Amino acid sequence: MRPRTRRCSSDVDLQYPSCHAHAVSHDRIDRHRFAQGETIVDASFFSEGMELAKLPYFEIRNGNRLALADDTVGPIIDVHTHFALSYATPWKVDIRKEYEATEHYLPMQGSPLDMEVYLNKNFTPVTLKRMKKDLTLKSLTRSGMRRTHTIPNLTREMDELGIARSVTLPIDYPILSTNGVDTLEAVRGNDRFIAFGTVHPYASGVEAKLDRQVALGARGVKVHPAVQLLSPSNHRAMKLYRLCAARRLPVLFHCGPVGIEPKMGRKRSQVVLYEQAIAENPDVVFILGHSGALQMEGALEYAKRYANVYMDLSCQALSNVRKILDEADPDRVLYGTDWPFYHQAIALAKVLVATEGGPELRRKVLHDNAARLFAA
Ligand SMILES: [Zn+2]
Repeated sequence: MRPRTRRCSSDVDLQYPSCHAHAVSHDRIDRHRFAQGETIVDASFFSEGMELAKLPYFEIRNGNRLALADDTVGPIIDVHTHFALSYATPWKVDIRKEYEATEHYLPMQGSPLDMEVYLNKNFTPVTLKRMKKDLTLKSLTRSGMRRTHTIPNLTREMDELGIARSVTLPIDYPILSTNGVDTLEAVRGNDRFIAFGTVHPYASGVEAKLDRQVALGARGVKVHPAVQLLSPSNHRAMKLYRLCAARRLPVLFHCGPVGIEPKMGRKRSQVVLYEQAIAENPDVVFILGHSGALQMEGALEYAKRYANVYMDLSCQALSNVRKILDEADPDRVLYGTDWPFYHQAIALAKVLVATEGGPELRRKVLHDNAARLFAA
C-alpha cells in the first residue's frame, strides 16, 4: 500500500480541531478517519479537491486526473448532471467538443474543500462571482467556463470514476430556451446518458412539448422552482405532474434554498412548499434534488412520510449524507453530483466514506436504486 499523507498542511495533530477550517466533533473525525499504514487520512477537509486522492478510493492518473482506484466500487449512476446551462437562449457552445480540462465552477485546484458544509459554501467571493457571470452574461456567448461543460468532457470524467451513466437535467424558461429538446437530441442513442426533459409550466402547449420530448427519449422531467420562478405546488406545475403521472415520468426537483440564489428564487424553493405536490401526486416519483439543500431535515421528513419521495445526495455535507443514509429508506437514496458545478468525485467520496463497511447499502445508493427507477 502506498503511503498516504495527512490532510493538514501543517504538522498539527489531527486530534486538535484547531487545524480545521471548521471545527468538527471528535466523534465525527473518528468516523471519517482512515488508517493508511503509518498515516491517518481524515475525510472532513482537504486543502484542495485534488487531495481526494489521499482517500483509499482514488488516485491521480495521467499527471493531473482524479480517478477511481478501488475496483470493488461500481457500476455507478449519477442522477444529477447538466450540460452547459443556458436559460435565456439556445446553446451557443458546441457541447460535442472535447476540452483538455473541465472547468468545474468549484475548482479542484487551489481552493479548499470542506466536506462538512453544504458544498456551495466552498465558493469564495471570486469563484462565486465567476460562476454567476458564466451562467448569465457568458451564456449568450461561445466562451466562458461553460464551453467545457460538454458531452465528451462529462463522459471522460465518468470513465475515470467508473460512472456508467449520468442523468442529464435541462432547465427551460417559458420562452426562448430550448435546453430540453437540445439536450435530448444531443445525447440521443448515447447509452451513457439518461436524459430528462423540461417544460416550463407556463410555456404554451405544455402537453405537446412534453410529448415531443418523450418521443425524443425523455425519461423524466426536471423542475427548478428557483430558476423557473414558480412554487413547486403552483397550480400549473400540478398539471404538469399529472401529465408526468400519466406517462410514468419521475420528476426531479431542485429542492430547497441553497443560499446563493436571488431572493425571488429562494422564496420559491423553501422545502415547505414541496409537500402539497408530493402529497397530492402519490403516483409520481419525486426525486428531491440536493435532499432539500439547506433545509435537509424537512426533505428527510418527506422521505420518511411519503413513499413516492427519493433523496438525491448531491451537495450535502458528509454528516448529512450519513444522517440521510441512517434514517431514510435505503431503497430511495440516490448518488448525484450537480456536475459541472462540482467534480463528480466529491459526492462520490462522501458516499464511499459514509458507506464504508456497508457494501449492500453502497451498491443501492451508487447504482441499484437509480437502475430500478430508470430501468437502466
Ligand atoms: Zn443541478
